[in-house]
Amino acid sequence: MAADIISGKEIGDEIRAEIAQRVSDLKKNHGLVPGLATVLVGEDQASHMYVRMKNKAAGELGLHSQQITLPGDTSEDELLGVVAGLNGNPDIHGILVQSPLPDGIDEAKVLLAIDPAKDIDGFHPLNVGKLNTGSDDVLVPCTPAGIIELLMRSGNDPAGKHAVVVGRSNIVGRPMASLLVRKGPGGNATVTVAHSRTPELGVITRLADILIVAIGRPETITGDMIKPGAVVIDVGSNRVDDPETEKGYRYVGDVVYEEAAEVASAITPVPGGVGPMTITMLLSNTVAAAVALAGIDG
Ligand code: NDP
Repeated sequence: MAADIISGKEIGDEIRAEIAQRVSDLKKNHGLVPGLATVLVGEDQASHMYVRMKNKAAGELGLHSQQITLPGDTSEDELLGVVAGLNGNPDIHGILVQSPLPDGIDEAKVLLAIDPAKDIDGFHPLNVGKLNTGSDDVLVPCTPAGIIELLMRSGNDPAGKHAVVVGRSNIVGRPMASLLVRKGPGGNATVTVAHSRTPELGVITRLADILIVAIGRPETITGDMIKPGAVVIDVGSNRVDDPETEKGYRYVGDVVYEEAAEVASAITPVPGGVGPMTITMLLSNTVAAAVALAGIDG
């Protein structure tokens, strides 16, 4: 069996077109321009690249975006002051403080300082709590939200299926499980969560109709760990050396793609699967936050 490829690039483009239309309608009908602020502290090159990509994507879809770049020796109090300013700024509806923060700044404290209504990462404990209590009025973490879109838009509704999530991080695994078990569209699955202390992982993964792997260990899930016909979502993005490539490295997932594609009915590639969805959902959250803050219905 050759699995269908679930393309995050194609589905992401589809959602971005919808966001651009929504942004244009909001501007025309309500004079509202959703605004994203990204805050970057220090010189981490990968963080600079991610933030550039986020602001570029926001601009392309018609959102207002503002990047605040602070030196690596910024104090926690200074950063909290910047966050407070953005909380009170009516042109900004989504605030993203890029991780990692330099030593000496308590990320949890910064996270708590962000207005939950502008917490487009969905990491504030209020949003985490709302997600876990089934509230609709919640900003959901972008990667798992993107995975639900991938499943629904590729015709793989999780309702009534057994979903196995491998990984229990606060960014991916836990919110993923919460979304899948939620009552309502995109949810209603029976969910098992596995992690590094799960014995006989293959016994568990082979039970999955939908297998979502977010462990950050290259090519850990082999073909024999997958139930024939399962849908496989590979969140992993692992850089591995490859002298055969021009750059000397390439990215692989947490799943052995070639083996899995023989067994699964559908699979996300790496790259080009889950990755492109994350920024798209960040923009989607920014628009949702703007609409909620402005009190616009629908
Ligand atoms: P974390 O390191 O925070 O969490 C990894 C989880 O996997 C932990 O719960 C850990 O268990 C579990 N785990 C580790 N090894 C094994 C194993 N051998 N068997 C079973 N479970 C295992 O990672 P993240 O959740 O942040 O990210 C996971 C992957 O997803 C990474 O490759 C990351 O780069 C990628 N990612 C991709 C994104 C995208 O946009 N494409 C966005 C976010 C992440 P325990 O809790 O017991 O330690």
